[in-house]
Amino acid sequence: MTFEEIKSLDEQYVMHSYGRFPVALDHGKGATLWDVNGREYIDFTAGIGVTALGHGDEGWLKAVTEQAGKLGHISNLFYTEPYARTAEKLCTRTGMASVMFGNSGAEANEAMIKLARKWSFDKYGKGRGTVITLHNSFHGRTITTLAATGQDKFHNYFFPFTEGFRYADANDMDSVEAVAGHDVCAVMVELIQGEGGVLPLDREFMEKIADLCAKRDWLLLIDEVQTGVGRTGTLFAFQQYGIQPDAVSFAKGIAGGLPFGGVMANEKCRGVFTPGTHGTTFGGNPVAAAAACHVLDRLDDSLLTQVREKGDYLRAQVEELALPCLGGTRGLGLMIGVEVREGWTNAALAARLIDNGLLVLTAGPGLRFLPPLTITQEEMDKGLAIMRETLR
Ligand SMILES: *Cc1c(COP(=O)(O)O)cnc(C)c1O
Repeated sequence: MTFEEIKSLDEQYVMHSYGRFPVALDHGKGATLWDVNGREYIDFTAGIGVTALGHGDEGWLKAVTEQAGKLGHISNLFYTEPYARTAEKLCTRTGMASVMFGNSGAEANEAMIKLARKWSFDKYGKGRGTVITLHNSFHGRTITTLAATGQDKFHNYFFPFTEGFRYADANDMDSVEAVAGHDVCAVMVELIQGEGGVLPLDREFMEKIADLCAKRDWLLLIDEVQTGVGRTGTLFAFQQYGIQPDAVSFAKGIAGGLPFGGVMANEKCRGVFTPGTHGTTFGGNPVAAAAACHVLDRLDDSLLTQVREKGDYLRAQVEELALPCLGGTRGLGLMIGVEVREGWTNAALAARLIDNGLLVLTAGPGLRFLPPLTITQEEMDKGLAIMRETLR
C-alpha cells in the first residue's frame, strides 16, 4: 500500500486520538527505519523508549520466534519458564524481592498503587489510601493513573476520577510536607519526569523523600516506566540515586518492543498480593517474557557503560551545534531533553526534523531523544547532521 492509501484507511476507520506525523513506517534495522516509499530515517525515539535493542535485532527476533513457536500464551493459571526467569533476573539485579507482571506502563502503575493501598490497609486499616505524587508528572492514561498524574490538563472530560491523590512540587520538601497527612500511604515519583520535559529530580530531594517515607511509614514508589531498563545507563535509575524504593514499576523498554510491564516490590511488600487480589489475563505472556529475558541478558555492564557514553556524546554534540532554536540539554544516559528557545515551538521543530529524516519526540516544552540503546556512532552522527542541516 502507498502512504496515501494507508493514511486514508486510517483516517476513515481509526479513532482520532493521536496527532500522527505524515509518515508510514515499514521496517527497520538498529536505529534506522524505512517508510513505505523506501525513504530512510534515523530513529531518536525507539518507539517512545521501547525498542531498547533497536529494530530487527537478531537475538531478540530469535528469542521471540522460538518462544512463539513453542507456546504463545497460556494465562496465569500455569507456570512457564520465561516468566519465572524474567522475575529472577529483575530481582537479583535490583535487590527487590518479587514481581507482578502486566502489559503496559499505566497498568504497572495501577498495580503499584493497589499494592501500596493494600499494604497500608493490611497494616493500618481503612482511611490511609492517599498517594502523594508530583506536579508535572506523568503516570498513565487509565482513570486512576490520570488522577495520579500531577498535571491539570489531564484532569478533564473523564469525571469522576479516582480519589486519593495529592500533588507536591518537585525538588521542594516544604511542598511535600504541606500535603502530608494521616491519610497518606505512599509517595510516587518519576526520578526523571519524562513526558513532563525530561526533568531530573535532585538527589538530595530524593534522599529526603526516602527519609520522610521511612519516618512516616509511607511506601516509596518509583515509576521507572520510562527511566528503567537501561535507559539512563544503569538497569534502573534508582540505582544511581542512592535510595532503596519499596516498589518500582517498569514497562516501555522491558521486552524490546512487545507489550510488557510490571511492578517489583521489596521484602516488606512481597506478601501484599494474595491469590485473587490482583491479576491480568495477558500479564507475563511467555513470548513477551522470553523477549524480556533476552533484553535483560543483553543489558550487561558493557552495554550500560555505552549508554552513558553515547548519552554524553549526543548531549555534547547537540550543545556544540549551538543551533539558534535550541538551548541546553539535560537528562541521564540516553534519556535526553533539549530546551527549545523562545520564538520556536517543539512541535514545529519536531515536524521539520521528521520531514528531513530524523525521528524525534517532544516532552513538556522541549525536544526529547530516546534512541535505541544500541544506536551506532554512524547513526548518531547521521542524526546530528540532519539536525544541523534542518535547524541552523
Ligand atoms: C509512558 C509512561 C507511562 C504509561 O505507560 P503506557 O505503557 O503508555 O501505559 C507511565 N509512566 C511513565 C513515567 C511513562 O513514561
